[in-house]
Amino acid sequence: MDLFRIPIEQIHGVGAAKKDDLHALGVYTVGQLLEYYPFRYEDYSLSDLSGVKDGDKITVVGTIVSIPVLQRYGRGKSRLSCKVVIDHFFVTSVWFNQVFLKEKLELQSEVVLTGKWDGRRKQITVSETEFPGRSAAGTSKVGTLQPVYSISAEMSQKWMRKVIAQALKQYGAMIQEVLPQELVRRHDLMVRREAVAAIHQPERMDEGQHARRRMVYEELLLFQLKMNALRAMNRRRADGLAQAVDLPAVRAFVRGLPFVLTKSQKDVIAEILADMQAPYAMNRLLQGDVGAGKTVVAAAALYATVKAGYQGALMAPTEILAEQHMRSLEKMFEPLGVTVGLLTGSTTERQRREMLGSMQMGMVDVVVGTHALIQDDVHFRQLGLVVTDEQHRFGVAQRAVLRRKGMNPDVLMMTATPIPRTLAITAFGDLDVSTLRELPKGRQPIKTYAVKHDMLDRVLGFIKREADGGRQSYVICPLIEESEKLDVQNAIDVFVQLQSHFPDLRIGLLHGRMSAAEKDEAMRSFKEGAVHVLVSTTVVEVGVDVPNATLMVVYDADRFGLSQLHQLRGRVGRGKHASYCILIADPKTEVGKERMRAMTDTTDGFEIARRDLELRGPGDFFGTKQSGLPEFRIADLMADFEVMEVARDDASQLVSSSEFWTDVAYLSLREYLQREGVLDGNVLD
Ligand code: ADP
Ligand code: MG
Repeated sequence: MDLFRIPIEQIHGVGAAKKDDLHALGVYTVGQLLEYYPFRYEDYSLSDLSGVKDGDKITVVGTIVSIPVLQRYGRGKSRLSCKVVIDHFFVTSVWFNQVFLKEKLELQSEVVLTGKWDGRRKQITVSETEFPGRSAAGTSKVGTLQPVYSISAEMSQKWMRKVIAQALKQYGAMIQEVLPQELVRRHDLMVRREAVAAIHQPERMDEGQHARRRMVYEELLLFQLKMNALRAMNRRRADGLAQAVDLPAVRAFVRGLPFVLTKSQKDVIAEILADMQAPYAMNRLLQGDVGAGKTVVAAAALYATVKAGYQGALMAPTEILAEQHMRSLEKMFEPLGVTVGLLTGSTTERQRREMLGSMQMGMVDVVVGTHALIQDDVHFRQLGLVVTDEQHRFGVAQRAVLRRKGMNPDVLMMTATPIPRTLAITAFGDLDVSTLRELPKGRQPIKTYAVKHDMLDRVLGFIKREADGGRQSYVICPLIEESEKLDVQNAIDVFVQLQSHFPDLRIGLLHGRMSAAEKDEAMRSFKEGAVHVLVSTTVVEVGVDVPNATLMVVYDADRFGLSQLHQLRGRVGRGKHASYCILIADPKTEVGKERMRAMTDTTDGFEIARRDLELRGPGDFFGTKQSGLPEFRIADLMADFEVMEVARDDASQLVSSSEFWTDVAYLSLREYLQREGVLDGNVLD
């Protein structure tokens, strides 16, 4: 019988009120209750006083050797104390606000005390007291581990433990294994029935951990199985475009570039072209460090789709980036007769109508734009490839929009910064991932300095020096107005200060409250070299390419996330001149200090991403945007990342083996995929 179909009121002792309490926790069935795992255990195993540390929580057996003394304070507060001999030591036992115990603490009687140990005073502050022999048989906690559940205020741990014990008694024998024997053996896992019992009622701590490890593996294996099966089903369904890629033409395009591609770039282009040729829809993530050269990879793919007779689209998060991409694509495509169009929010109505017409008639080969590209009235004649830049994820919903337009184009998503592997295989587990592992040769490492605010004069001198040498600088400020934190330099203030400090330099200003046209203008004049210093908020953060900019100054740098700082630093060092990044900060927090250390230690984006994840945790890594990170019931993405990797490998082996789809040993796993809707094939949308 399926335990997830048995309502909790079938458990003896669960009446109407308790049923409601459990429902409030989201627990409706026996199956759910049994999977309502404790988040820790109270340890009541007996402690050896010679081994305990100050502040430890201990459980000890002792004999009362003095008459308890009761002191009362105001407002019903009290302190009860007496001497107890434990293991030949004299120890003072103290109880707060437990007057009722005074009568029970008889001389020479035995007590079990659980509480906090104070080594200096030889004193234990008792939270729980038991009298061996006096309590009802079987209820003593001495020597046990007690599970602690996350419950509501109306409930008690004691009741929760009881109801789970009862559920195990009634239904424990019905718990079915879901993992194939082979995996249970290979990873030395507890079988499911034992593990569920042991996770609630472990005999020893290591047994609880062993049980937990099994449940973590199970949860992550099922998750990875789902991700892998999604990819496999997508391929199997084969309802994408099989584009006829003209390899010699793409090679000619690559030869025509002003530089030689890195090996990584070549490998990744090959992976992408293979996807495009295949009859399934490509769902590929392209990641690489800042400056690794993702744009040219996208260009090669777009060129391939055009040569195959389709149109291509490139979507960027901002208009500045969209325009920049349009210009660099135009430069690359012009000699090849490939036409490029632009469609953004600030395209005039007339131009827009014209562009929509050209797109629909197939007069334009590649369209670059912002989200304006996926609006209702936008139609392509034959869209073959969509590339999205600098977005963590081209939303599932947006892909669905394209599908509804009757196209199932290949999709390539490019990320702004490297993503730590743990997160990549979790958040993007349903995508194929390509990685640019190397930077183009000859890049000069960006010299990075972390300085205090009192060094500002020297920083200004640096800006001046670069300007005198014909180079340009960015100055980044965290917030745009003084509203939130008074001590935050805002862009407008800094702009005004720099203007008065450098009367003979041209200073530009760029922030999020400016209109799109104003922003464009500010960016354009910086790109054209008409402005020496661009004071900006982080709107300049992603992707912007101004090779003549050699200095990046960041105010209050400790307030930024590491990946963001790395992204900002990546705005310089894009040309042939030596480049610098100066981080101004007086970090007060450990995290802030660690950020400055990481930035000065390394320029490797993968290393930075790893440290950022460590500092911020998986939830914050992607910032506030929808991260696509699943919530796990028992697994912890950080602590259990090694298990995640193992589960990933196991899942991919399973899915690619033919037995998995036929053998009875894998039936319960297949049933799981069926329940999750993976086998119906519609989940990607
Ligand atoms: P990102 O990966 O950060 O988006 P871009 O695509 O903007 O990087 O590339 C950064 C710069 O490097 C661009 O100016 C681009 O023309 C240049 N570039 C790309 N690939 C190479 C290469 N193989 N050799 C030299 N320069 C390259
Ligand atoms: Mg880029």
